[in-house]
Amino acid sequence: MKTEDKIHLKGFRSWAEVDKDRLVHNVKSIHSRVNKDIFAVVKADAYGHGAAEVSKILQGLKSVRYLCVATAEEGRELREAGINSDVLVLGGILPEEVDIFSSYNLVPVVSDFDQLRLAINNRIKKVHLKFDTGMHRLGFYPGQLDEIIKIASGRIHIEGIMSHFPSADTDPEYTQKQITAFGKIVKQAEKYGIKPRYIHLQNSAGLEYRCDFCNSVRIGISIYGEKPSKSFSIPVKTVMSVKAKVITVKQLKKGERVSYGGTFRAPADMKIAVVAFGYADGLPRALSNRGYFLFKDRKIRIIGNVTMDMTIVDVTGLEDIKPDDTVTVIGRDREKEIYFEEVASLCNTIPYEIMCRISKRVKRVIV
Ligand SMILES: *Cc1c(COP(=O)(O)O)cnc(C)c1O
Repeated sequence: MKTEDKIHLKGFRSWAEVDKDRLVHNVKSIHSRVNKDIFAVVKADAYGHGAAEVSKILQGLKSVRYLCVATAEEGRELREAGINSDVLVLGGILPEEVDIFSSYNLVPVVSDFDQLRLAINNRIKKVHLKFDTGMHRLGFYPGQLDEIIKIASGRIHIEGIMSHFPSADTDPEYTQKQITAFGKIVKQAEKYGIKPRYIHLQNSAGLEYRCDFCNSVRIGISIYGEKPSKSFSIPVKTVMSVKAKVITVKQLKKGERVSYGGTFRAPADMKIAVVAFGYADGLPRALSNRGYFLFKDRKIRIIGNVTMDMTIVDVTGLEDIKPDDTVTVIGRDREKEIYFEEVASLCNTIPYEIMCRISKRVKRVIV
């Protein structure tokens, strides 16, 4: 860590170290496998990694052609942070957002006729058209291409055409059908003389499938180093490590209860530490009495209920732990690592949710 970052961290009891080399490694690793243009997804504050800083790193990479956000507001924030790469807004365009799109030069994904007309009538220069091939969230239906062409032709530039996978991690048959369906749409569009610069379908889990007619991929979780499915075969490394400080260390007598609700009772005399990281920092309360942190390569068990700002851990037998020491909440600690996937499965959710829940109070630092 640079000295200036250390100074920035003064007064912070928790922070998330975002490993630049690992981020770059992941993008290069994926690009060398798929050999397509990369649309790096930096929505939700880059899955909790800090959108501005992450985008600065990503826009410097040759393979990254677009940054993708969920909303116009997220796009505006990138521009205000000095990001000048192309920015695609995945969540579409709403009437009240039109000015933001034009002032900040953002490109909307357009997925119905209202949005298409809105873009045309407000002189948005280019759009990416989204088709619904099975997600049933956003997207035109394949049969609407005729009418899209009628409305759009000569009035707006269709720079991209896309669809999205709901189950690439679990359902190859369904996913394969989507690839076929999307291929037909692309062919049909070609017949109308529409050859978009970007054709993109695959998300991270979708990278395990072939899409020969696609020339770009839209990926998030894999660039942050988490496998989107068990079978994911591209080597990636966890980018973010979440750290917090020990506030106090003390003894607990046999039979004493810990934290709200007293859900933990000491089976014997023990030593405990209070760590400055709670559910307001993004630690799932579901980890109460279940999860663990790392301290110098050793697992320290969470005991009692996780509270808003603090969590109590069992440090019995650890001689060297003291106030102001750093523990690892998620991520790398020397040779050991707590993976987002591991935390997620303890809480019955997915690593995406754990990542983007790490809250604003946790200072992000690039290391
Ligand atoms: C979030 C998102 C992605 C990225 O998905 P990952 O599984 O993180 O790779 C791609 N496309 C769309 C439309 C998305 O909303």
